[in-house]
Amino acid sequence: MNDGPSYTVLLFHSIDDRVRLSLKNLGNIRPEPFEKVCTALKQEFDVVGIRELVELISDSAGKRGRFLAVTFDDGPKSYALNAAPILESLRIASICFLITDCIGDKAIYWRYLYNYCINAGFGKDLADLVNAEYGVSIKEEDIVSFTRSNYNREKTKLVMEEISKHIIAEEEYLEKENELFLEYEDIRRLKESPLVEFGIHTRTHPVMKGLDDEEIRDEISGSAALYRDRIGYGRPMFSVPFGRLYKDYDERTIKAALDLSTGVIFSAYGGRNGRGQSLYNIRRIPVHEGMLGAGVGKFVRSLFDAEAGPEYREAEKRLRESVEKRS
Ligand SMILES: [Zn+2]
Repeated sequence: MNDGPSYTVLLFHSIDDRVRLSLKNLGNIRPEPFEKVCTALKQEFDVVGIRELVELISDSAGKRGRFLAVTFDDGPKSYALNAAPILESLRIASICFLITDCIGDKAIYWRYLYNYCINAGFGKDLADLVNAEYGVSIKEEDIVSFTRSNYNREKTKLVMEEISKHIIAEEEYLEKENELFLEYEDIRRLKESPLVEFGIHTRTHPVMKGLDDEEIRDEISGSAALYRDRIGYGRPMFSVPFGRLYKDYDERTIKAALDLSTGVIFSAYGGRNGRGQSLYNIRRIPVHEGMLGAGVGKFVRSLFDAEAGPEYREAEKRLRESVEKRS
C-alpha cells in the first residue's frame, strides 16, 4: 500500500429519510448510517475543511498524513435537515455545491423528474416521450444512460414539458415532491457556522459535454453571478455535474470554470488525490448507501487506497495538456 500523503474528498448527495421518489436510488444515505460513517471517518482520517485540503494538495513541503474532506452536491434540503446538524455535532467541516436555479425548488431538476417518473411506475411513458423527442427507440431501462450520454438542453426542456402534459403536471409534482432543495433561508442560517461553506454546481445540472461553448459559459457564469448576489463573496469553488472526465465533461468546462470560478474544480470519478493533483480537477469519491453493505468500518478502510479507474490516468494527462496549453 502507498504510504505517502493522501488527500481524499468524499462526495455525498441527499441524507434523507423522507419519502421522495425523486431521490430514490440516486445516492441517498439515511441519516443514521451517515452518522456512523462520519464517526468512523474521524477515527481513521485527519478530517479537514476543503480549503485546508486544497492547500495541503498544493503544498510542496507535503505534510504527511491521511487527510479527508467532505463535500455535498446539488444543494439538497436534507443538507440542512440532517447532514449539517450531524456534521456540526462531530465538528466536521463540509462544502455544499448548489444547483443554483433549483434553490427553493424554483426550477425542477430534470434528473429528479425523470427519476420520479421511473419510480412512480411511469418508466414506459417516459421512454415513449424520450423516443418521440429524440427520434429513437430506447427501452425503459435505458432512459437514464441514454438521456445522460445524449444530453441536449433544448430536448430535455421539451421532454419536461411533455411530462407535465402527460405524466404529472408541474404543480402536482412540486406539491408532491416538495422541499427537495435548500431555501435561501436555510443557506443564510447554515452560513453562520464556520464549518459550512457553499460552492456552485451550475444553474441546471446539465451534462456539460452535451453543451456548446456558449451554453457552458451560461451555466457556470449564471451560477457564479447568483452566488455573488445572494450567497457569498468573490468567486466560488465549482463542482462539475455528474463529474466523469471525458464522459460528462471535457476541457471546455474546465477552461470556462477557470475563468469564472476560483479555479478549484471538483470531478466525481473516484480515487483519492496525491500531492500535486491539479486543483482544477480534484478527484472525489461518490458515496451511496449500497457501499456500506459490508459494514461502515470496512467501507472507511477501503478508502485508504481507493484509486480512480485506469482510464482516468490517460484522461487526466489529456486534460492537463489541453488546459496548460491555453494562453
Ligand atoms: Zn450533481
